[in-house]
Amino acid sequence: MKKITEIRKDFSILSTSVYGKPLVYLDNAATTQKPSCVIEAMNEVYTEYNANVHRGVHFLSDKASEAYENAREKIRSFLNASQKEEIIFTPGTTGSINLVAYSFGERFVKKGDEIIISTLEHHSNIVPWQMLCDRKGATLKVIPVDDNCRLVFEEYTRMLSKKTRLVAVTQVSNATGVVLPVKEIIEEAHRYNIPVLVDGAQGVQHGMNDVMETDCDFYAFSGHKIYGPAGIGVLYGKREILESMPPFQGGGDMIEKVTFEKTTYNALPFKFEAGTTNFPGAIGLARAIDYLRETGPEYIESLEKDLLGYTWSALSEIPGLKMAGGSVPGVPVFSFNLEGVHHYDAGMVLDKLGIAVRTGNHCAQPLIERLGLDGTIRASLCFYNTREEVDTLIEGINRVRDMFF
Ligand code: PMP
Repeated sequence: MKKITEIRKDFSILSTSVYGKPLVYLDNAATTQKPSCVIEAMNEVYTEYNANVHRGVHFLSDKASEAYENAREKIRSFLNASQKEEIIFTPGTTGSINLVAYSFGERFVKKGDEIIISTLEHHSNIVPWQMLCDRKGATLKVIPVDDNCRLVFEEYTRMLSKKTRLVAVTQVSNATGVVLPVKEIIEEAHRYNIPVLVDGAQGVQHGMNDVMETDCDFYAFSGHKIYGPAGIGVLYGKREILESMPPFQGGGDMIEKVTFEKTTYNALPFKFEAGTTNFPGAIGLARAIDYLRETGPEYIESLEKDLLGYTWSALSEIPGLKMAGGSVPGVPVFSFNLEGVHHYDAGMVLDKLGIAVRTGNHCAQPLIERLGLDGTIRASLCFYNTREEVDTLIEGINRVRDMFF
């Protein structure tokens, strides 16, 4: 097992300074840093075998195509999906959800139907469904939460009906770190044969990556939140449903034969990968997943568990600090406010101390409003963070309190 000091050396950005202070990067729910092996893997693509995939007969194109398809196989194995055809590369979670909202919606959603989401969703898992409902005359239903951000499950079961076409929920709230009972949500929906899309943007990097275990029908995540590059993401879908869906976008690679009279479409997964895809990104993402395997998922989990407990105890002792999620979050994402201090002011002061946190509504405006807030300060940690960094955060918060009182 690598020592934390060795792990941190893999992420060179972690040893940089801002405003002359050592960087304390606690904005991992927004995006994670990249280990040097990911940067090197992408550098290798551009310096050694850059060529368009699935198109050329030449050596470089073959090599790039092979690396791209190997990346797909790595993702398949990581997600525990049964077939490579079920793995579609997209620009990210947002791209994946929009693909389903458009394509599944085109085929299966009609006037009077219903789509169910939860109050805890990121805008990316709200707006595509609103757009679909507007196009089709369908209705968006929202599972409520209690004051502690927990889903009101009985309300959900009451909402499911013959009109429900799809349920789309997040694994983890990006705004509060609350983990949703996704397996139970899926079980309930499946009793009515309703498919479920899981937004894995905040769960995938915390070991919630097994699609067989949850039996979800769709799973969406972004490479940049799991130590991979930006601009690449994945949509997993059960083959049977993907086969029944029309293409999302038209263009190169997604076709079998084109004439001016009629076009036939390529097989899965290419049917959903129109145009030149972000193949260097896919290769970088596969390398990130290898890195996690090499580091050890259980070890990573134990590091994050330690940070979670340590941070929770430390934050709980600060007078006037109120956690937005109520009780202990399921992952090391802490969303809070300081009595009498605007979250934005707190974020500015912390920034000047070298501490990167996020402030605002975290692209989850309806949830923040439901909690009666106008924003929070969010510190999101991952396995490369340290207890010392948490101590720096706590000192920083105390500095903020001293300044405003
Ligand atoms: N869903 C959740 C829960 C998220 O946290 C995010 C990113 N903050 C997204 C969706 C959107 O991800 P991306 O911007 O990478 O498409």
